Amino acid sequence: MRLTGPRMPGNSHPMAKLPRKYDVLVAGGGNAALCAAIAARRGGASVLVCEMASKFWRGGNTRHTRNIRCAHDAATETLSGPYPEEEFFRDLLQVTGGATDEALARHMIAESKEILDWLPQQGVRYQPSLGGTLSLGRTNSFFLGGGRSMLNALYLTAESLGIEIAYEAEVVDLHIENGMFVSATVQQGGVRRIVRAATLVAACGGFESNIEWLKQYWGPAADNFLIRGTPNNRGTVLKMLLDRGVAETGDPTQCHAVAIDARAPKYDGGIITRLDCVVFGIVVNKNAQRFYDEGEEIWPKRYAIWGRLVAQQPDQIAYIIFDATALTLFMPSLYPPIAAASIRELAGKLSLDSDALENTVRTFNAAVRPGTFDDTILDDCRTEGLAPPKSHWARRIETAPFYAYPVRPGITFTYLATRVNKEARMLMKDGGPSANMFAAGEIMSGNVLGRGYAAGMGMTIGSVFGRIAGREAAKNARN
Ligand SMILES: Cc1cc2nc3c(=O)[nH]c(=O)nc-3n(C[C@H](O)[C@H](O)[C@H](O)COP(=O)(O)OP(=O)(O)OC[C@H]3O[C@@H](n4cnc5c(N)ncnc54)[C@H](O)[C@@H]3O)c2cc1C
Repeated sequence: MRLTGPRMPGNSHPMAKLPRKYDVLVAGGGNAALCAAIAARRGGASVLVCEMASKFWRGGNTRHTRNIRCAHDAATETLSGPYPEEEFFRDLLQVTGGATDEALARHMIAESKEILDWLPQQGVRYQPSLGGTLSLGRTNSFFLGGGRSMLNALYLTAESLGIEIAYEAEVVDLHIENGMFVSATVQQGGVRRIVRAATLVAACGGFESNIEWLKQYWGPAADNFLIRGTPNNRGTVLKMLLDRGVAETGDPTQCHAVAIDARAPKYDGGIITRLDCVVFGIVVNKNAQRFYDEGEEIWPKRYAIWGRLVAQQPDQIAYIIFDATALTLFMPSLYPPIAAASIRELAGKLSLDSDALENTVRTFNAAVRPGTFDDTILDDCRTEGLAPPKSHWARRIETAPFYAYPVRPGITFTYLATRVNKEARMLMKDGGPSANMFAAGEIMSGNVLGRGYAAGMGMTIGSVFGRIAGREAAKNARN
């Protein structure tokens, strides 16, 4: 919809006010925003969703998703077995190394059990897990048609419930007084309007698309980062909230970052530029040196560390090197691998020092101990006397043709967050709860994810806290 009411051009002041005051203003248009909007509307509230993107591009990073991780006590039509709350919590503890708010994390995991059924009630459909390197058939529910279909379902439900949705509507300013949201300035079609609402749900992502902000922590290296999702998650609202008294949590350098094809576009490359072949070969930096154990753990527990690892290498570039035996073991990506008849020729094509790459491969091959290769378990194919080691799936790279993928850090989402409580209500710097501001999704992910990641948790955080935020915002607006 177009926001209507008096128009004030550009940056003119005073701003025109929308005649109507909503119960709940939701900033954002991804999973967290839609779950919040639907829950608020079902709770009896009038709701306006302001999504910065156009209708076609709606849905932020959620467009790219495939699955969600929810606890469940028994197998379902689409999940192959139980995934108890305690196991989910153990997995979270393992990947975060304990850097999580335990009470909030346990609350999220308990609520995720209901989310498994709640999403289908909002029109979302699941399909059985796909095969492939992530092996998530028991723990994660896959969306039929992927993230965009999931969003289509949520938007259809939102529209049918009478939720108003404004596209190309960017929240550019917030009026907050003593921890209380008063109004937002929303820009649409070059016109700014003041939107008043009894409560705010901020669900507009992290700051991963804001290279200048990333540079504050990463320095010039951030220029070489690729952003896997929407260019819109620039952290505008996050920054305003933190500047206006909301307490922050989470380490600003922590994020979900994977190694993606260096030839990917700067933004929105999505899943098709991710490379899941690290475990099948070796990874070298621009000096043709290995720098980390490629076979440390099963891929779902390790894929999200490779973005950071590559970010720490010179010029933030690395190369996955493998041979003909591995070519068909992983998901094909957008770009073909670079192929050569010999390691020497491959080095030439990658502009790497040929002697250095030959030496790295030779040394690696010599350290490989015989074993039984099995990429579905932590197998016994490993190196001996090599630093860093390759602990599993180590096989000689000796069968031509030889292949390489150049990779760069692909940032998925950042963890710096507004602090929230179990009601998804923002907490202020003085420790007290905000009167009427709630947050859901990436913008508060750092409450649960201090570091690390387990596949499917981004959507858990968005759906669980989105639903809670919407429910609580509606309640708040009534009081
Ligand atoms: C390639 C890729 C694959 C992924 N796969 C998975 C997966 O399979 N499972 C999983 O759990 N997670 C996955 N993730 C992570 C997941 O996408 C996010 O954790 C999740 O979608 C976040 O939901 P959200 O609603 O918080 O943010 P988003 O879905 O990013 O939505 C943020 C919204 O806010 C809008 N916005 C931003 N600023 C403003 C503003 N100022 N005013 C108005 N609107 C604004 C944006 O346009 C966008 O619509 C993936 C991410 C990527 C990039």
